[in-house]
Amino acid sequence: MINTKILGTTNEEIEEGAKILKNGGLVAFPTETVYGLGADALNPEAVGKVYSAKGRPSDNPMIVHIAGMEDLSKLTDRISRDMEILAEKFWPGPLTMVCHAKNIVPKVTTGGLDTVAVRFPSDPIALSLISKSTCPIAAPSANLSGKPSPTKVSHVIDDLYGRVDAIIEGKDCQVGIESTVLDMTEEIPMILRPGIVTEKEISEALNKEVRIDPSLREGVKGEFKPKAPGMKYKHYAPKAEMVIYRGDREKVSLAMAEEKMKRIKNGQKIEIIIFDETEPEKAAHEFFSRLRDCDKKGVDVILAAALKEEGVGMAVMNRMFKSAGYNIIEI
Ligand code: AMP
Ligand code: MG
Repeated sequence: MINTKILGTTNEEIEEGAKILKNGGLVAFPTETVYGLGADALNPEAVGKVYSAKGRPSDNPMIVHIAGMEDLSKLTDRISRDMEILAEKFWPGPLTMVCHAKNIVPKVTTGGLDTVAVRFPSDPIALSLISKSTCPIAAPSANLSGKPSPTKVSHVIDDLYGRVDAIIEGKDCQVGIESTVLDMTEEIPMILRPGIVTEKEISEALNKEVRIDPSLREGVKGEFKPKAPGMKYKHYAPKAEMVIYRGDREKVSLAMAEEKMKRIKNGQKIEIIIFDETEPEKAAHEFFSRLRDCDKKGVDVILAAALKEEGVGMAVMNRMFKSAGYNIIEI
């Protein structure tokens, strides 16, 4: 068990976090998407510790976080015009670009791949920590592998207290789901993980077609292998059984209410999750936190209504399907 320091957000405390990172330690910190667990991305030993603290499979690469455009050229020597356009439009912000990696990036950071995923976050605490550390920071979500991603510092403490050197106690994350991951290594960019930066926005910025990894469309059953290694793993799972109801909203509500009554009679504790379909950003903000609340309350079964699988709704549904292990009832 490691003696975990809880740090506030004063300059001195962020400075202390940065020093820990520089010395090869692990620091969890807030970003606008979800909390991240950071390590010096160019220090293989430090990155190795992230995998063990999270229990993360070693073929699941990390996103490397930077605090300025000059850091991008430390990681890759192939910055295309399209990458510049997207950086200009969406950075700092919740977009990750996968690009060809320079040799300086250790294989442990890229999960053995020749490419590296890079993001320039907008959260001021994250930016301050990265700049003070003076290294690019590898940072997957600061949860135990398989659990819902952490959107509040209490989630990070629940999962990682005693397993990391420090946790920075910031505010709740604004976005609530992880960044959009976009593969920029080919002529036509491809979305490997949907997020709040949507296909439409990217396509409009580049004025060209953007593909979506076919494996995102068909869940676990299909023959397509996802290009982002992390997308194949069981993810975001609450302790409760989870069932998604998909179809006309009114009929879905009725079916869920009926199922709830049936299950209560069987002595089960039920939670209903119905987000407003017209506000998928709000659903993104609340989703992971709702799952963790269910676990805390000892809920047995979560019944959740599907959102429309378009735009930000697609990103939320990608997480919801995984949380439920693709347990879907069509209404
Ligand atoms: P997390 O760090 O938990 O937000 O997950 C990062 C996601 O980005 C995972 O799904 C990874 O598999 C994916 N990823 C990271 N680096 C790469 C890369 N070089 N190529 C493809 N996918 C990547
Ligand atoms: Mg994660």
